[in-house]
Order: sequence, then C-alpha cells, then structure tokens
Amino acid sequence: MSNDPKLRVLVVGASIAGPAAAYWLAKAGARVTVIERFPQLRTNGQNVDIRGVGVTVMRKMPGMEAAVRAKRPPIHGLSFVDARGRAFATIKPTGNPDQQSLVSEYEILRGDLSQILFDLTKANDNITYVFGEQIASIEQPAPDTTSGPVTVTFANGRLPPSPFDLIVACDGSTSRTRALAFGCSAREHMHPTNWWAAYFSLPTALLPADAVAGSDPNLARAYNAPGGRLVCIGPDADPRTTRATIIGVRPRSRNLPAEILAFRAAAAQDHSSSTSSSPDPSSPPDSAIKSFITHHLTHPTRTPTWPRGVITALLAALPASPDFHATELSQVRPPRLWTSSSSHHAARVALVGDAGYASGASGAGASLALAGAYVLAGEICRALRLRRLHPRQQRRAARDSSGLGLGKVADGESGVEEGVLGWDGTGALLDAALERYEAVMMPLVAEMRRTPGFVGAVLAPQSAWGLWLRNWALWAVCRTGVSEAVQRFAAGAFAKREEAALPEYEWVE
Ligand SMILES: Cc1cc2nc3c(=O)[nH]c(=O)nc-3n(C[C@H](O)[C@H](O)[C@H](O)COP(=O)(O)OP(=O)(O)OC[C@H]3O[C@@H](n4cnc5c(N)ncnc54)[C@H](O)[C@@H]3O)c2cc1C
Repeated sequence: MSNDPKLRVLVVGASIAGPAAAYWLAKAGARVTVIERFPQLRTNGQNVDIRGVGVTVMRKMPGMEAAVRAKRPPIHGLSFVDARGRAFATIKPTGNPDQQSLVSEYEILRGDLSQILFDLTKANDNITYVFGEQIASIEQPAPDTTSGPVTVTFANGRLPPSPFDLIVACDGSTSRTRALAFGCSAREHMHPTNWWAAYFSLPTALLPADAVAGSDPNLARAYNAPGGRLVCIGPDADPRTTRATIIGVRPRSRNLPAEILAFRAAAAQDHSSSTSSSPDPSSPPDSAIKSFITHHLTHPTRTPTWPRGVITALLAALPASPDFHATELSQVRPPRLWTSSSSHHAARVALVGDAGYASGASGAGASLALAGAYVLAGEICRALRLRRLHPRQQRRAARDSSGLGLGKVADGESGVEEGVLGWDGTGALLDAALERYEAVMMPLVAEMRRTPGFVGAVLAPQSAWGLWLRNWALWAVCRTGVSEAVQRFAAGAFAKREEAALPEYEWVE
C-alpha cells in the first residue's frame, strides 16, 4: 500500500498525446511524471489538423483554442497546380470549425501544438517533465504481486527507480512502451498504408517567384507527378520561410512495395548511424532518407510532371534543412488499448495517441490523441471517485454510471474491502476504467481514421492518365461547389463535430 494518496502515473512521450494526457490526468487528481526521449521538446514537423472530437477537447481546455488560433499558419486554402504551374482547383476552409474541409479551420504546426500543450501543463505542481530520459526496465516489487505499483528504472539516470501505479504510452506509432507492455516487437501491431511523408522548411527565396506569388501568396500549393508523388509547399508565419511536405503513395497491396521497403531500409540506416558509438562524419543525420527522397523527386517519367523550379529549390534546401522529419504513415491496431500484465510483469499500461491508434493518412492523429487523453483521464477520475465511496455507494454509483467495467467491479468481483479501498481495490477499479477507456475510444478511432482506398489515388495518382483524370475531376468538383460533400464522404475525420460527442466527466482538481 502506498503512503501517497495520489495515483502515480508515468507518461512516456512529450509530443501531443503526452502533455494532453498529463493535463487531464492531473485534473483527475493524479501525480504525473512525463519522460521524453529527446533532450528538449521537439518542435519540428509541419501542419497537423484539429478536427471533430479534437475540437471538442480543445474547447474544454481553457486558453487552448485562443492559443491555437494565434499560432494558425496564414493558410487561406490549398491550390492544386499543374505541370505548367497553373492552379486549376482550390479548396478553402469552410469557415465553420464544426464542419471542416480538407483544409482545417484549426491547422497548426505540430511543434506549436506541442508547445501550447506543454505551456498549459509545465507549471502544474502535479506534473513533472523529464527530458532526455526513457524506460530501461519495469520491475515487479514482489514476484507474486499481480496488481499494485511497479518499479520503473530509467536508462539515463535522470530519475531514480520509482514506483508507478499506471504507465501511459504516448511514445508514437513505434512505441517501445507498447512493445514492453504487450511483450512484442515495436512493429508488431503496425499496419502499413504504403504512404510515407517528409516534412521540412526552406528559405522562400529559393523558390521561383510564380510558386509563391500568384493571386494569393497565402495559398498552399500541391504539385503531383505520376508514381504517387505529391509535394505541398505552404506559407509560414515568417514569410522568409516556406513549409514543405513530400508524400509518396503506393497502391494498397498484399506485399510491401519496393518503395516502402527502400524507405524503411534508408530509415534503418540513418537510425543505426545516429545511434552508433563511432558515427561516420561523412554521413550527416538523415542522409540515407534524404538521398531516397532526392531519387523519388527526380526519377524521370515520359510525361511532363511538376514545375522544375519548385523541385530544384526543394533539393537545394534538403541537405541542410534544420527541421527535417520523415516517417512511414502506418496505422497502429493493437488488440487492446491497455494491459495489466504481460509475460514479464504486471504493469498497468494504457496506450494513448499514435502508440494506440496511429491513423495513417487520415489526418486524425492529433485529434485522436487529444480525445484519448481526455477519455482515459475522465474514466480514471470516475473510478477514483468510486474508491472514496462505501461499497454500497459504489454499487449504486456503478449502476447509475452504466459503466460496463465499473458495474462488474462494484458488484464485488474485485475483492475490495469495506470502507476506504486499499491499492488492490484501486487496481481493480483502474482496470475497469481502462476497459471503459477502450470501449469509448475504439468506435471513435474506427470512424476517425476511416479513409477509403481511393483517397490515395486522388491525392497522388500513380499514372499520367490517372493524374489527368484526377485533375479534371478536381477541377469539376471545385467548380461546382460540391467539394465539401465529397470530402465528408472521403474521410471520417471530416464528419460534423456533434457527430462525435464525448462523455462528460466531473474533475477533482
Ligand atoms: C518530430 C515529429 C514531427 C511530426 N510531424 C508531423 C507532421 O508534420 N504532420 C503530421 O500529420 N504528423 C506529424 N507527426 C505525427 C503527429 O504528431 C502524431 O500523428 C499525432 O499528433 C499524435 O501524436 P502522439 O503524441 O501520439 O505521437 P508522436 O507525435 O509520434 O510523439 C511521440 C513522442 O514520444 C517520444 N518518444 C518516442 N519513443 C520514446 C521513448 N522510448 N521514451 C520516451 N519518449 C519517446 C518521441 O520523441 C515523441 O516526442 C510528427 C511527429 C513527430 C514526433
């Protein structure tokens, strides 16, 4: 039994899900430690969208919506541009945050969103951030203990071995915490979508004038070439900088396409040089991925592709780009969103954000991370309230809450004693809360990450003929004004906000 009356939670990862989980868990009355593998908050990456349930949660966090609006990049819409540099179709935000288009009302740079969430949590007495740290091991205090805290040891000695009642994995799609918790490899529950993306900034002055001037300099521009190649460039708050995203899409297939295998091989090569004890000075960080991208942008096709000047500028900026980030866009689909035991230990671990439900190319990653953080903490808060009640009151509360797991626990199957519960009782209540977290999130995740197979073919056609057809169809859809309806059909993340309501919770702090 612990002397600390607060639930001790270790959150792994400080990007979007991590700080959001810390915010809500502290409101649920927990004491939260957040560890991040990198020595400081990572500010790279390009635009992420806040949609649907993400907007709902953002509006529950005082000050966040204003902060997001203040940081919104000056993007008025997205124009698709043909091989001769002419914009032929433009998609604009709807002006209604509750019904968003391909261009979100709440588009924000990932680094800015992470910073906003960090700023909302860093001064909280119940939240401690430790950068440059990761889990080394999870140990059982006693070999036969099946619930209660585990002792976590840390790899870099910035924290002493410490007991935690719950570990929340917010360490992204390749989560090592998920691998530890489920006793599997980091790749085990990752499903390829055959998309990859790279994000970086470049000096605007490198780009040809017609790529940044035109009718509206605040329109982002999308360029395509056959072979599933898409390049987007968009304005930054600082006009001297332009934001670039390069995307490669291969059709869905039974076997992994050669392009995805080549991407993975390059990423693995860069990873092993960056973690080597004797790094090769002639191969700077990310050099294998950057040469993969150079080949991707330059391999020839028989038809005219994209304006040469834009590609030349990207290639000139790529080697020295200070904020480069590249990733394969996978979906993460583990069988459960939590566990309270594995073959090695009985740690209670919950998966939040990309660690539990990375959504591939749906654009729902940040929104699901915000929603998951809120629901997890809300269900835990509800369970901890029950801990303070007399068992008779627990039974009544469980019946009233119609919580599936809570009902089971409160009906006496947890072995809880009369009066104030000990930590064993809390363990059972926690399990019930985690079960309910999963039950609330799973349908939401399924809906938000729904992206029909044709989305890749529309955004990045494979053949010159497909590209011609796509351009014609996009032109027609934008001309006739039915683009909003088409986009809603195309992705679950574009649904109306009220269609994805979240439970309301009563917080203790
Ligand atoms: C640097 C970066 C840039 C990105 N850029 C874009 C973008 O431009 N557009 C887009 O749509 N999405 C981008 N993403 C992904 C996007 O942030 C997520 O899809 C979404 O917001 C959900 O976030 P998350 O917090 O669950 O996961 P992530 O954003 O992937 O964050 C995981 C965090 O955990 C940390 N971490 C990983 N392993 C460990 C470990 N073992 N111990 C401790 N910490 C660990 C990582 O350093 C990272 O900070 C980016 C992610 C990162 C990390």
